[in-house]
Amino acid sequence: MSLEFNSEEYENEQTLFADVILPLPLPLMYTYRVPREFAAKVKPGVRVVVQFGQKRVLTAVIASIHSNAPKIYEAKYLLDLLDESPTVNSYQFKLFEWMASYYMCTQGEVLNAAVPSGLKLSSESKIQLNPEYNGNYEFSASEQLILEELKKRNLSYSDVMTLLGKKTIHPVIKSLLAKGVVILFEELKEKYAPKVISKIRLRDEILESKKLFEEVFQKLEKKEKQLTLLLRYMQLTQVQQNKDNNRLGLAKNVLLNAEVSASALSTLLKNNIFEEFDQVISRFAEYDLKNEKEIKLSEAQTRAKEEILELFKTKEVTLLHGITGSGKTEVYIELIKHALEGGSQVLLLLPEIALTTQIVSRLQKVFGNKMGIYHSRFSDNERVEVWRGIISGKFSFIIGVRSSVFLPFDNLGLVIVDEEHESSYKQYDPAPRYQARDTAIMLARFHHAKVVLGSATPSVESYYQATTGRWGLVKMDKRFGEASLPEIVLVDTLREKKFKTMQNDFSSVLLSELKLCLEENHQAILFQNRRGYAPYLNCEDCAYIPKCTSCSVSLTYHMHSGELRCHYCGHVERLPQQCQACGSTRIKPIGFGTEKLEDDLKLFLPEARVQRMDLDTTRNKNSYQNIIQEFESGKTNVLVGTQMVTKGLDFDKVTLVGIFDADRMIHFPDFRAAERSFQILSQVSGRAGRRGQKGKVLIQTTNTLQNILHQVIRHDYEAFYQLELQERERFNYPPFYRLIKITIKDPEKKPAHDFAQAFVNLLLPELGSKRVLGPETPVIDKIRNNYLVDIFIKLEKDKIKLPAVKELLQKHASQLLQSDKSYRSTQVVFDVDPA
Ligand code: ADP
Ligand code: ZN
Ligand code: ZN
Repeated sequence: MSLEFNSEEYENEQTLFADVILPLPLPLMYTYRVPREFAAKVKPGVRVVVQFGQKRVLTAVIASIHSNAPKIYEAKYLLDLLDESPTVNSYQFKLFEWMASYYMCTQGEVLNAAVPSGLKLSSESKIQLNPEYNGNYEFSASEQLILEELKKRNLSYSDVMTLLGKKTIHPVIKSLLAKGVVILFEELKEKYAPKVISKIRLRDEILESKKLFEEVFQKLEKKEKQLTLLLRYMQLTQVQQNKDNNRLGLAKNVLLNAEVSASALSTLLKNNIFEEFDQVISRFAEYDLKNEKEIKLSEAQTRAKEEILELFKTKEVTLLHGITGSGKTEVYIELIKHALEGGSQVLLLLPEIALTTQIVSRLQKVFGNKMGIYHSRFSDNERVEVWRGIISGKFSFIIGVRSSVFLPFDNLGLVIVDEEHESSYKQYDPAPRYQARDTAIMLARFHHAKVVLGSATPSVESYYQATTGRWGLVKMDKRFGEASLPEIVLVDTLREKKFKTMQNDFSSVLLSELKLCLEENHQAILFQNRRGYAPYLNCEDCAYIPKCTSCSVSLTYHMHSGELRCHYCGHVERLPQQCQACGSTRIKPIGFGTEKLEDDLKLFLPEARVQRMDLDTTRNKNSYQNIIQEFESGKTNVLVGTQMVTKGLDFDKVTLVGIFDADRMIHFPDFRAAERSFQILSQVSGRAGRRGQKGKVLIQTTNTLQNILHQVIRHDYEAFYQLELQERERFNYPPFYRLIKITIKDPEKKPAHDFAQAFVNLLLPELGSKRVLGPETPVIDKIRNNYLVDIFIKLEKDKIKLPAVKELLQKHASQLLQSDKSYRSTQVVFDVDPA
């Protein structure tokens, strides 16, 4: 043993500390002490396990390493290190920081949304008996049941739910904890499990030695089944030509067939001729790029592409305003190829629903296995594979939903946001309440990457940026090939009602066009932005309307399931046989949703094969694709659906689109109602008449004079935009003003309203009455048993120091929350740039 002084160790003696981001809504980072054995390995972006508070063990991410001990608390040691190399890179840190500050939330909340849960250790709370319990409390029946079971094993929350047969177990557990008879602890488990398949291969020695090899054959001479198996293996793998093939082996199910039995295989395994091993495989099917015919860009597409590339020299962002069917996808493809050839990564954002459709298979044909898909319907394991695949360089191109802005890109060159006007790019709940399009622009800025936003109906904000010169603007105003835009016709339903020509909700015009369309063997899409059978039931005797018990909305009638459902909280009840108020059996559904249209069609067009596409029919992983495929193949003639039918679908034989209830959309009480209506009506209309077939669109309305309808009829985005912009300017809305929506929530009505009023009173003197609007009771003022009150902050785009205002809002909110006991359950939710 040597007593020599180790100088290297001495220099490292200084204690290191790590600031970590915990996946919790904490405003500050927390500091931990780095154990000596981790000192060489800790770095920003690496995941660690830490204890937080008395009882919690969590996965956190190191944000920085330093040597400053925290002043007001004793730093605990990091418990474990999960990564050799960073899971989160410096670009991501920058983005997370920006998001937290811009969208008024914490970095922990951003991190929590960003990292797939497979990369977090889950800490599941469990309870166990407290060995030190010496109280003498009375226990309720439920409590006794739990205590009995705890003598046998520890219980997780979900175990307790099963045991008691109910969901609300928190009160019981709280009471047990308070009595000190149980303690809570956390159990950690790593969630991500790579997908493996079990494979078979020859043992290496046998292949390496000619002698052994011959011996094996001699041994098997009389054992016909085993010999067949061995020969089949050699034939399938061609190991004699190339020994390396043995390393990859063969999957069991490939090897085994009618002639070779599993029992022969197990004998060969037992006798050490074959061996079994696990191979980690990708969850994503390999893609074959052969047989793809080249597509040549049209003249208009080439021009658009070249204009965009030219604009890249001077602008960060370019808006591609191309009408429906103009062929934007092929332009994207060329731009993506260009960026990939330059060696950089590419991100293409798509709205949630468009991701399962044609555009994905089109892109897959071009980019094959380079392309990773990031979708919320994918399992967590699949998302972890995409995350890791970007780090390892396997995927250089990602198409994904809004959350793909969080992925670990380190060399992004191009970001494309398709259908940039889509409101689903905004995350509404929970925090971070971010706009993925705007976040993507920020992300691109950090990478010095270029951005292309594409839409047939750009958002007012984006068009404003593009026409005032801050962004580039490129237009494609003709449909690709022979296709022309559809003819749009208004149908006056008031008039039809007066002459009694309506059949339920179908105008005679629409029905006869539908018949014609089907006779010609074409297809039709019917759009009604409301699912279920009827939005509410009404008692004909006492006028009672069944409402949700937790929300201030009527329950929607779903006929197929015989249920009443709340579309806000998911509450479900059986359909009542009689009025709950007066007992009458005369209960009538009012209004109509997609289910009723589907049902009525069976009556009016018994021949037609009708499919419905809405949230209710697309809950399973592949149901959406199946419906689309059946429609594409002509199995169904009519597709009835909600907004889902408006997104990026491209069908050859659709010549008719019917739109119901346009008025409700137009008169929705929101400053974006006109914009939304124009976009949705134009997008649905755009489904009609592609590839040479002239299409027709019928819009049913009670008021054929409405401006917006005529802008849609004329396909006149410019006219819509000019008028809308004036309104926005007149009433201080975006793009001229920035909005922050503040929602006050409380299980009781009074504290919610009191708080809102007090908050406004605090803000008014500092911001002025032009900038503070409300408090305002929203149309639906109770959701999930919380009463809601809104306050709107409107801020001029240029004159105002945004960070200062946000700080002010947060400061007043937290002071006010602490000022009065009655606010102990009050929540304040900030939504910056609400959708
Ligand atoms: P958009 O997204 O602008 O609405 P799409 O990209 O869906 O338009 O294109 C409309 C149709 O035209 C699609 O069926 C597409 O396959 C076809 N198309 C577009 N560009 C070409 C091209 N260069 N060659 C052949 N077909 C094309
Ligand atoms: Zn009644
Ligand atoms: Zn509800």
